Amino acid sequence: MSTDITTQFSVEEIKESKINQVDFETLVFGQVFTDHMFECDYIDGEWQTPTIKPYQPILVEPSLKVFHYGQAVFEGMKAYKDNAGEVWMFRPDQNQVRINKSAKRLAIPEFPKEWFFEALDRLLVLDDAWIKKGKGNVVYIRPFVIATENAIMAAPSTQYKFMIILSPVKSYFRGDVSVVFAEHYSRSADGGVGAAKAAGNYAGQFYPTNLAKEKGYEQVIWTDSNEHKYLEEAGTMNAFFRINDTLLTAPTSDRILDGVTRKSVLDIAKHLGMQVEVRKITVSEVVEAAKDGSLKEIFGAGTAVVISPVKSFSYQGIDYPIEKQKNSYAIKLKEYITDIQYNKIDDPFGWRYKVGVDKY
Ligand SMILES: *Cc1c(COP(=O)(O)O)cnc(C)c1O
Repeated sequence: MSTDITTQFSVEEIKESKINQVDFETLVFGQVFTDHMFECDYIDGEWQTPTIKPYQPILVEPSLKVFHYGQAVFEGMKAYKDNAGEVWMFRPDQNQVRINKSAKRLAIPEFPKEWFFEALDRLLVLDDAWIKKGKGNVVYIRPFVIATENAIMAAPSTQYKFMIILSPVKSYFRGDVSVVFAEHYSRSADGGVGAAKAAGNYAGQFYPTNLAKEKGYEQVIWTDSNEHKYLEEAGTMNAFFRINDTLLTAPTSDRILDGVTRKSVLDIAKHLGMQVEVRKITVSEVVEAAKDGSLKEIFGAGTAVVISPVKSFSYQGIDYPIEKQKNSYAIKLKEYITDIQYNKIDDPFGWRYKVGVDKY
């Protein structure tokens, strides 16, 4: 990562922190924000002065293009503090590449890599007090880009706003989830935007997910939009299936987001000597495996929850419970990945990124 850059940042610090108004024990995911935010506008074909300022509302016109055509992409990352007080990010280079890949698919200009890292480093140093030590405490990082031209003509915006906001989070064990395999609705299609972290991908999932919730399930595992025959991903997480002692996940495609947690889980699983297969997974093989007892685990993998074990799935109106494993791959993998994130063990993969502004 290039660090020898001349900085052009404009930084306005808060006068008084609002941290004392926050109860860190009762944080709800993504509802509280730190003292500072990052903002950079794209005007006349160029990204303007990168700016850090107190977290505050943005004033916009109702004709703002993102409201009408949904031209918006985002990322989800985290900052971790180890017991010595050092702050780390996990594979931020992957998020940097991905937000520009998502942007390209939505006809949004790419954001400079150096500024992406400098913005993160500076924000996290300024808001260091919001990152509490140790596992379970984390600051969730939300970079995003929106179309900001004031015009309701259906064409790509000529102006954009790139922002980063930070939200302190207390992770707690939510319990294993029950899921439904999608039989009618789809999250994404061949040639579509499913592989991009596009805001609209989430909007499209809310209604079918609500239908599943009304029936008592928590999440949907999406299947291929053509035949609903192959299991793909969970919409905010990639999906893993353990049949006997083999860990399966679908290959990435136009329809599946290339998750950082997914690829890290694959590397760690191999490193720990687990058998791993990346291939198409049919609904019918998983149903069969549930019936004959060879389906040991299903879990989701994504930055927000890390690993989310599944306790049952529903398909064609039948519920298939999954028995809890003593030797759970989900628990083992979660432990390993969070140990790397919180600087508790060696990082044989070189994934940790140390946060600091001494570089600038
Ligand atoms: C963000 C996201 C994931 C998980 O990706 P990570 O990089 O592991 O956080 C999975 N699926 C979709 C659709 C996503 O948007």
